Amino acid sequence: SAMKHPSVEQQLTVALRIRPINEAELEENAAIISHRVGDQMVVLMDPSEDPDDILRANRSREKTFIFDKVFDHKATQEKVYVSMTKNLVEGVISGFNATIFAYGPTGAGKTYTMLGTDCDPGIYIRTLNDLFKAIEATSDNMDYTVSMSYLEIYNEVIRDLLNPSSGFLDLREDARGSIQIAGITEVSTTNAQEIMQLLTKGNKERTQEPTAANKTSSRSHAILQVTVKQKSRVKNINEEVQVGRLFMVDLAGSERAAQTQNRGKRMKEGAHINRSLLALGNCISALSEKGGSRAQYVNFRDSKLTRLLKDSLGGNSRTVMIAHISPASIYFEESRTTLIYAYRAK
Ligand code: ADP
Ligand code: MG
Repeated sequence: SAMKHPSVEQQLTVALRIRPINEAELEENAAIISHRVGDQMVVLMDPSEDPDDILRANRSREKTFIFDKVFDHKATQEKVYVSMTKNLVEGVISGFNATIFAYGPTGAGKTYTMLGTDCDPGIYIRTLNDLFKAIEATSDNMDYTVSMSYLEIYNEVIRDLLNPSSGFLDLREDARGSIQIAGITEVSTTNAQEIMQLLTKGNKERTQEPTAANKTSSRSHAILQVTVKQKSRVKNINEEVQVGRLFMVDLAGSERAAQTQNRGKRMKEGAHINRSLLALGNCISALSEKGGSRAQYVNFRDSKLTRLLKDSLGGNSRTVMIAHISPASIYFEESRTTLIYAYRAK
């Protein structure tokens, strides 16, 4: 099959999104500590300080984290989608892989960014709408088939959210060395609405148990996998089917197990989540150091998440990570560790 070369476009994009402060935080007398100053965001340790002063003084104890984009509480869903994801669609329908991650502690806005609300839909539906539109625009000489799977990784096991009774699924390499999930439900589909309905149904099957920190904290990584197969209508026996795969991942909450007073089962979950997130951070940062080349040894085998995404991180794939934080002072520590993680990935 034809080897395509990486385009000059950036292959790893990391952004930070800071959501609006909410009622619960205000009730706890939390102060807003994130402020935009020009194209920079200042996350303050001491809310009584003036963000302008901090930037002007450029004091040595302050840490600077650089991201490709920063979205503040005013950034719309449309804006986040257009700047972070819209441009991946063309690649996917031409046979390239792409992955979008929402990273951050529970409550920081990951699901809002990916799924959104009915009046303010997120990245999933916007991406799928554009994907089908792009296919429509080119399918005069091409035949496309689109299929989707929806799964979660919980405690390092894979569960099919479209068929939860199928138990734990394994990862296999097919004859061409690409990773497949053995036995996963793959639904062929022709429109975005259908995918969203399946997603909503699948979400009800997610492993989601209360923890001391947050009643609805998500302990699993939710992964929407969309596969686009493309074939020329002009008959040619030598021609292979081109496959582009898009992963859209709502990661498990990144808060550390220690901070949620978890014991026993919960503690183990925390360790597994950290293992996946740590492995992901390691893989992405190793890839970014080499400008996306696979020449460097990258240990995808360290977790289920990175094994699954092996073909979609680095190489010719494009990767987008949106890290999320709360603007409230009470979450300073979580915000700090999130900034460190996302900056390191870059
Ligand atoms: P997470 O998935 O990271 O645990 P959520 O996406 O569920 O967090 O967000 C927590 C709450 O904050 C939800 O009620 C969500 O609707 C709200 N929220 C998050 N981000 C935003 C935003 N950018 N604008 C408005 N509300 C938001
Ligand atoms: Mg969530």
